[in-house]
Amino acid sequence: MPKTPALFIGHGSPMNTLEQNGYTEAWRAFGRHLPRPRALLVVSAHWYFGATAITAMPQPRTIHDFYGFPQALFDFEYPAPGDSDLAREITELVKPQWIGLDRDQWGLDHGTWSVLAHMYPDADIPVLQLSINALRPLDYHLQLAASLAPLREQGVMIVASGNVVHNLRELQWKQPDLAYDWAERFDDAVAEQLSQAPADILRVLDHPDYRLAVPTPDHFIPLLYLAGLAAADGKALEPLVRGHAMGSISMSCFGLGADIELRKDPGCAAKLPTGVPPDQTNM
Ligand code: ZN
Repeated sequence: MPKTPALFIGHGSPMNTLEQNGYTEAWRAFGRHLPRPRALLVVSAHWYFGATAITAMPQPRTIHDFYGFPQALFDFEYPAPGDSDLAREITELVKPQWIGLDRDQWGLDHGTWSVLAHMYPDADIPVLQLSINALRPLDYHLQLAASLAPLREQGVMIVASGNVVHNLRELQWKQPDLAYDWAERFDDAVAEQLSQAPADILRVLDHPDYRLAVPTPDHFIPLLYLAGLAAADGKALEPLVRGHAMGSISMSCFGLGADIELRKDPGCAAKLPTGVPPDQTNM
């Protein structure tokens, strides 16, 4: 059985849930072209707190973890089922590392459903979310990812959802197609590192633009899960989508074992997001 692909998705604005643009069309193409997984394990930038936990409820709720966006976004529901048995199996798999079972606290946040709304619009594949433990050093996430690698042989697709460059202070919401030079430089450096030696991804912390590109680690850490999976597999990560939004957000996506020729898919032209609302809090 071939290993299930793993993806890093640059999710950008929550409005991507409701929009149709080059990025969302690419996410739809991922869902269309990749083998249908048994379950999805999503590492979202938006479940960033002081513990490592996994959602273990049979029906995770849709969490609307933002404000200042149109009502339609608050009305959006992604009613995918959970998989309590798989959550328990994952806690066993990673031992002696520890993952807590979350039975009633979290659910699916917009880092997950803004992407899955396009990849799997029918919401009929079980989804589990893994939290990002904010108290652990960065290399912890690489190691935990390596422990999760066997899931790829069990039909579980690991999706990490964040943004390589994510600086909300520098955001230019009126310029959807803007890319700051420093954002491009850092995104390029990350792509280069992932294609050469993903195990050494933490080298990009020494990049002169790191502080500006990654002022807080929450949206960057999901990338470490893909890098850790790639390192465990002895493979490189391939860029699937490259692009920038609003100056200080990178929309780049990377794949592991995602042998899809997206360039042949006419839906994947690199159009840029439009219609972004003024309040970009908690993207
Ligand atoms: Zn976000």
